[in-house]
Amino acid sequence: MRKITLSNGKTVEVSCLSCALTSGLIEPDGGVVFETNYFHAHQDVAYPIKGLIIVASKRHIKCFDELTEEEMIDYMQVLSKIRKAQRDVLGIEYVYYFYNEDTTHHFHTWMVPRYEWMHEFGRSVESVRPVLLYARKKMNTNENIQEVLAAIDSLANELKK
Ligand SMILES: [Zn+2]
Repeated sequence: MRKITLSNGKTVEVSCLSCALTSGLIEPDGGVVFETNYFHAHQDVAYPIKGLIIVASKRHIKCFDELTEEEMIDYMQVLSKIRKAQRDVLGIEYVYYFYNEDTTHHFHTWMVPRYEWMHEFGRSVESVRPVLLYARKKMNTNENIQEVLAAIDSLANELKK
């Protein structure tokens, strides 16, 4: 079990953070960006990067080959839809995708938009962690958080269409 402190200060104990999020037990800051029968998308505002989205399966699985055929099709559609919304609404030109199977949570894919300021951390997989840490430590300003939340809203609205 993991203890998680919610933004309202309450503490809950959950065995899997992804299950807690996709089941609605935990409401992510900024809310749910997009949802289907099989997948759930939100932003982790602890990493305040505009347009960063985490897509999690609703089933507690870890590996790609555990997806059912319906889930596979839905997964590609969900990623593509979100990707298009990132481009159309936020003008995001490139996205990095990160997914590891040995997670302590469950199946989830990070969609990390590329911005100019990230180039100094490298141009490939080695840049992902430094970029996320930099965002968490240095971009946690009120102004930036407001922008991130506004971006979540506009993505969510676009994805409702
Ligand atoms: Zn889970």
